[in-house]
Amino acid sequence: MHFNELNLSQELIQAVEELGFTEMTEIQQKSIPLLLEGKDVIGRSNTGTGKTAAFGIPAVESITEADKKNVTVLILCPTRELAMQAHEEIRKFAKFKRIVKAVSVYGGASMERQIFELKRGANIVIGTPGRIMDHIRRKTLKLNNLRCVILDEADEMLNMGFREDIESILSEVPTERQTVLFSATMPPDILAITEKYQNNPIHIKIKSSQKTVELIEQFYFEVAMGRKTDALKLLLYAYSPSSSMVFCNTKKMVDELTEELVKSGFKASGIHGDMKQSQRTQVMNGFKNKSIEILVATDVAARGIDVSGVDAVFNYDLPQDNEYYIHRIGRTGRAGRTGTAYTLISGRKQFYELREIEKYIKADIQEKSLPKKSEIISIRKENIINEISDCKNVSKDAYNIIDRLASKGIDYRETAARIISEKLNIESLPEFDIPQPLKKGRKEKTVKIDINIGRNKRIAPNFILGALVDATGMSGRDFGKIDIFDTHTTVEIPETEKDYILDSTNPMKINGNKVEVKLYNGNVSAMKGKRPEKPKFDRRKSAYGNRKKSDIYSDYIPNRKNRTKKRH
Ligand code: ADP
Ligand code: MG
Repeated sequence: MHFNELNLSQELIQAVEELGFTEMTEIQQKSIPLLLEGKDVIGRSNTGTGKTAAFGIPAVESITEADKKNVTVLILCPTRELAMQAHEEIRKFAKFKRIVKAVSVYGGASMERQIFELKRGANIVIGTPGRIMDHIRRKTLKLNNLRCVILDEADEMLNMGFREDIESILSEVPTERQTVLFSATMPPDILAITEKYQNNPIHIKIKSSQKTVELIEQFYFEVAMGRKTDALKLLLYAYSPSSSMVFCNTKKMVDELTEELVKSGFKASGIHGDMKQSQRTQVMNGFKNKSIEILVATDVAARGIDVSGVDAVFNYDLPQDNEYYIHRIGRTGRAGRTGTAYTLISGRKQFYELREIEKYIKADIQEKSLPKKSEIISIRKENIINEISDCKNVSKDAYNIIDRLASKGIDYRETAARIISEKLNIESLPEFDIPQPLKKGRKEKTVKIDINIGRNKRIAPNFILGALVDATGMSGRDFGKIDIFDTHTTVEIPETEKDYILDSTNPMKINGNKVEVKLYNGNVSAMKGKRPEKPKFDRRKSAYGNRKKSDIYSDYIPNRKNRTKKRH
């Protein structure tokens, strides 16, 4: 079903067209018409299926001239990155509808700026629950004219300990309203919220697509932190697939990796959502006609790509969703042909994530070690022998060149040797110096902070992480090991960020409890005289599992240097 079958206003149709959307995704087809009618909806669908547009388009469409200065739609997101992302997308939908003013509010950013923006008049507000509560308390966000509340990634918000905030928000808004909830899973907590705050909601569930992956051989390589690029080059060099795809999780990584590969002489091109449609088409055509041998892509950009004869798929980053793994490796082994999928992992966390994928796809992913230099050379030799034996188009000019070289004293054997050396390219091998798995983990210097809340308050690591991410605006990845003791919790943080973290977490609330955050000196008073307790949770083994949002949207996080500059 096409977007223009929806009876949307001209402004919206134009904006959607400009975004290059034509067909609606399944969740969009099912939910947009209901949302436009003002119905309460519970939507369940995998990541990357276009949920933002599913609620964003009706939200923008619903704003009228009369709503100019009133907050009419409120969108709750679990993290700053997701709030920023939803904001950005909504701004695009509202491009031709001037009366729409969307504002986003989240922790770790200037309060004054947000207050200023809200005061100027916003009709759509997007934010994290903690910061929204903050604005409600300060009366800088008034919700008495609210018509619609949207909970995006509701399960994730509950995982992060936002239940209390969500419930306070829902009980403070007018009861005559539309309540919309999107979630990847439906745990009992969500159903409880639904029951309490929604009005005859309509359930929409989109089944995840399952597909056989039997013809695809799957391997993984464990490489040292920071050495994935070298490892990938090594593999490309060793196996020299004539057509392969490399998957990364962020647009930035696609750009960086493509540049690296091109620099090393590979025929690679990147594709991602920030590129113009014309550019993307050009790259896709190149990949189809095999002039581009390596396509580096994000999941979203590669969705639905159907190119025959892809020999290998490389997962440079682990997919954020098990389902993506199937989609990715399904780019090879099409139409009954065999294919190979290689996954690169660094560190224990990724190792556990890979195990999860294995369980999900119910297939074996075998460990392989990176090829040694001698092996690479013998593989290259074989390939060159095959390539030259199979070569059918020999030009007359080639003989002419050989004869001219011979007349200069370079005989046939010597000519052939020179050309083959070029193909072998052994000189460049030392650069691909074999990356060894690094057992030590991250190199960055870390310190610990101590938070005065622990097991006694039934705290789980993801509550702690959620609160830290919300308060600092940093990525979940920036935080290390979380150890929860009876009355306190320690969290590993990068040393360079300690002042900022202490500054932005005092005060902070975790699951409704006001907490104090201090630098940990290994000697908390509550522990004095006792043997150190054994921590109960280790985040690396539990908590976020395979779906870690802070990682997923990490390309929306400015890098640390830039971020530090922006802080006040
Ligand atoms: P989700 O929230 O379900 O994980 P998103 O809303 O983030 O998914 O959408 C994923 C990507 O798909 C975004 O880049 C978005 O712009 C794009 N997208 C959404 N709907 C469509 C559509 N109908 N056609 C093409 N691209 C779409
Ligand atoms: Mg989403």
